[in-house]
Amino acid sequence: MAQLTVAVAGAGIAGLTLAAALCRNGIDCHVYEQAERLAEVGAGVQVAPNATRLLRRLGLADRLSAVAVAPEAIEARRWDDGALLRRTPLGDLCRRRFGAPYYTLHRADLHDALLSLVPPDRVHLGARGVAVTQDAGAARLRMADGAEIAADLVVGADGIHSVVREHLVTDRPRYSGHTIYRGLVPAEKVPHLVAEPRVRLWFGPERHCVCYPVSSGEQVSFGATVPASDWREESWSARGDVADLAAAYRGWHADVAELIGAAETVGRWALHDRESIDRLGAGRVAVIGDAAHPMLPFQAQGANQAVEDAVVLALCLFGVDPEGGLDALGAALRRYERIRLPRTTRIQRQSRDSVKTFHQAHGDAETRRDTARDSSVLDDHRWLFEYDAEQAAMTSGS
Ligand SMILES: Cc1cc2nc3c(=O)[nH]c(=O)nc-3n(C[C@H](O)[C@H](O)[C@H](O)COP(=O)(O)OP(=O)(O)OC[C@H]3O[C@@H](n4cnc5c(N)ncnc54)[C@H](O)[C@@H]3O)c2cc1C
Repeated sequence: MAQLTVAVAGAGIAGLTLAAALCRNGIDCHVYEQAERLAEVGAGVQVAPNATRLLRRLGLADRLSAVAVAPEAIEARRWDDGALLRRTPLGDLCRRRFGAPYYTLHRADLHDALLSLVPPDRVHLGARGVAVTQDAGAARLRMADGAEIAADLVVGADGIHSVVREHLVTDRPRYSGHTIYRGLVPAEKVPHLVAEPRVRLWFGPERHCVCYPVSSGEQVSFGATVPASDWREESWSARGDVADLAAAYRGWHADVAELIGAAETVGRWALHDRESIDRLGAGRVAVIGDAAHPMLPFQAQGANQAVEDAVVLALCLFGVDPEGGLDALGAALRRYERIRLPRTTRIQRQSRDSVKTFHQAHGDAETRRDTARDSSVLDDHRWLFEYDAEQAAMTSGS
């Protein structure tokens, strides 16, 4: 049987996971990345059991456990007095219940780990896709330098501003009204925030702050949202002003002040998402990750969903005969879409809704009572963490 050829635009978490999963299944895949060199932004990412189980199966168990932190719990506190509002236990309980760990990681560590699974000659840097076309015989990714890459399938893993998505739908990112300041501080500057590793959140009026240790506990990553109607830049290289951030969080708990005070630099990023769509592929073109369903980061699931998408799409493509024409490929893409859309649409919606909950929860007596329920709080996440995307793909039928 001839081999299916796949061209992927974007070497982020989605694109690299897809390339790793396709290469593992013997599918011919090349990744085209606009950046001249691969350098993930200096920030953290939370990776829940629904994605760690897939990453471990891809062969990254040892590599990730060497650099990740496995937090004991997620704790949400009041912005002013630091009173505990809600505690979700993680650690061993999470691992036992869901069969995989909850990790906090430096993004570069996750990215490097994924890159190690892809043969170097499959990743092409300085290669920006500008348009996609397709006909009955092939899809083509046109590059900024005029070159055209032909493949049986073009996959857009090119993030929220996806060029490939434009081939499927006409829509625009939606600004959330919030920007986020992000930074990394050395753990020795805030030792009590790493002593017992936790994801710590503080909820307050119109804003919230989150921090967690990364890089084997050597650094603490934080993100602090601020309402802003007038600042819409979306680039991690956009510098924020630490003094502005400190002013925005004046009067907050001493732990928050200390965290912000320990930061030498911060990046600033305007938070956007998009409306859910009802197609993730058409003909010879598909989208995954943020190109498919960009979401606000408040459920910490965007990268997790990118990993799930990639694993499911790779499984759906397995066994597709390129000489079977559009029917075989079309069936594979419909199956991918059927498996993924209900879940990603739900998470996109929840991510949007949760900002309201976060910013109201700080005074809510009901929320405070939740602390008594401890392990049952973990059960609230069951539908999210227990989900096995690989299993879903294997049992979905054609
Ligand atoms: C503040 C914040 C915190 C977050 N925290 C979490 C978290 O804790 N957990 C979690 O799961 N998710 C989190 N997310 C979401 C997560 O970062 C994204 O969902 C994830 O990075 C999406 O990966 P991706 O590969 O789809 O897209 P991206 O990471 O955007 O990667 C896209 C890649 O494509 C390249 N590219 C773009 N256009 C082109 C083109 N035309 N041609 C070629 N290459 C191109 C880009 O250079 C990039 O390398 C967070 C997001 C934000 C903003």
